Amino acid sequence: MGYDYNKMLTQCNELVKKYRFCEMFSIGESVMERKLICLKTGRGKKKLFVNGAHHGLEYLTSAFILKFFKEYSKAYRNNETLLGYDVCKFHDEITLYAVPMVNPDGVDIAVNGIDITNPYHRKLISKVGIHSFNKVWQANVNGVDINHNYDAHWQVVKEYPSPGGYAGPYSESEPETKAIVDFVREEDFDILIAFHSQGGEIYYDFDGSMGKESERIVREMAQHSGYRAAIAEGTAAFGGCKDWFIKEFGKAGFTVEIGHGKNPLPEEMLNSIYEENAKIILCAMSEII
Ligand SMILES: [Zn+2]
Repeated sequence: MGYDYNKMLTQCNELVKKYRFCEMFSIGESVMERKLICLKTGRGKKKLFVNGAHHGLEYLTSAFILKFFKEYSKAYRNNETLLGYDVCKFHDEITLYAVPMVNPDGVDIAVNGIDITNPYHRKLISKVGIHSFNKVWQANVNGVDINHNYDAHWQVVKEYPSPGGYAGPYSESEPETKAIVDFVREEDFDILIAFHSQGGEIYYDFDGSMGKESERIVREMAQHSGYRAAIAEGTAAFGGCKDWFIKEFGKAGFTVEIGHGKNPLPEEMLNSIYEENAKIILCAMSEII
């Protein structure tokens, strides 16, 4: 078993029930009509957006975001600090938004496979040419890699739908990408962090350009987390969420590769990767204000 969409949904519902100051809403739907859940907390003018699981096998990022939301909310309610950071001040000055699972269909395929009765089963087999989907699946159910589908030097990397790396027929062709793009345009965030796995690295540039204050922020993040600040190369260097955010708004966007190992990282790793990644978010919050 892995951390699939239903598990995430259950935890989101528990969270907003327990901490009434947290909100939960949908920013759109996946290809298979799963709601793209967004969590929100805080009442400040500054805005931070974090997201996870653009890629099917990287569902530990979703579990991490839920855990962070829980710990952050608990600290705020109890008037405590979190890992040494003043959460009450953050809550007053920053509104935190999170889409823990950008690609719920892909995660479900990676965790549970795709049932033969599912109408997408035959489609995927004929499109992609493989019969076993779990353990390899990174794309959405159309076989499009969402993190290559953004309008940031979008280009053809692969010709056909694939478990990973196919950028789609054109940029923003997928409903998941479109939902994120529309939401980000509407909300006007100050900083964006997209969580992926794995590697223990933080990417912070797009094609040689950087968002406002990015270099200073990434230094802080790296110092507090022990992760390495890195410049993306090759196919990882374009078409992604943070690439588009930097290109379109000139603000600080980051890709964080959580943990070390082989995807999917086991759920038991959540506790050991929690603190270093929580500090990355908290660092971003203290830099925003
Ligand atoms: Zn990824």
